[in-house]
Amino acid sequence: MKVLEITELSVFYGDVQALWNVSLSVEAGKIIALIGANGAGKTTTMKTICGINPIASGRILYDQREISGMPVHEIAELGITLVPEGRQLFPKMSVEDNLLVGSYLKRTRPNRSKNMNRVYDIFPRLAERRKQTAETLSGGEQQMLAIGRALMQEPKLIMFDEPSIGLAPILVMEIFRIVQELHSMGLTIFLVEQNVHHTLKIADECYIMENGRIVGHGTGHELESDPKIREAYLGF
Ligand code: ATP
Repeated sequence: MKVLEITELSVFYGDVQALWNVSLSVEAGKIIALIGANGAGKTTTMKTICGINPIASGRILYDQREISGMPVHEIAELGITLVPEGRQLFPKMSVEDNLLVGSYLKRTRPNRSKNMNRVYDIFPRLAERRKQTAETLSGGEQQMLAIGRALMQEPKLIMFDEPSIGLAPILVMEIFRIVQELHSMGLTIFLVEQNVHHTLKIADECYIMENGRIVGHGTGHELESDPKIREAYLGF
């Protein structure tokens, strides 16, 4: 079943068109990835799904329901959560308070302490550092905190915007492991990544974006063996 279905989506920043007739879909329980160079329009796609960017034309269906034009908080209440690029934590606030920020939704507020314990079970390092301010965490721990904050919203569809960017190789592996673990817990994943090599290994399907348009689509395995993809994105 399709959880998310985007049809012919166009988005502008002022006079500049950032997305051109983008169509893609995300099936329940799958890892679907979106790859492409800097400025291709990946972040714009995710922000538009969340209701942050207005839609010029096209539609977005979530669970067969039109969400185009809905306000951000209503979309979040439906179970769509974004782990944003650059983590967007509150650096001077504690780990615990950053997690609490993620529990503002009406739907999940009553489950606050249960959800926090679940986050600490998944990320024991956050439990150890619960009283520390976010700015004292390492880059990898900060990314875990951003993911933990997203989990406080009990997402059904979790979207990651370049979660491994700027991390050391061993932590990149750790982030991909976490994404797979969340997937095995039943979450549907929509992943934007620059690390194409790892992404194609874990994604059920992948879309390729260039200059605001979808220019390719296939299973991770298909794209991995496609000579054009290998040359453009995998450095072969
Ligand atoms: P990156 O990997 O650099 O984040 P991206 O694929 O996520 O790239 P977007 O951030 O979606 O790309 O940007 C798509 C296009 O829209 C780019 O040309 C960018 O300059 C432009 N753009 C993004 N945000 C804005 C904005 N707030 N105002 C004007 N133009 C913007």
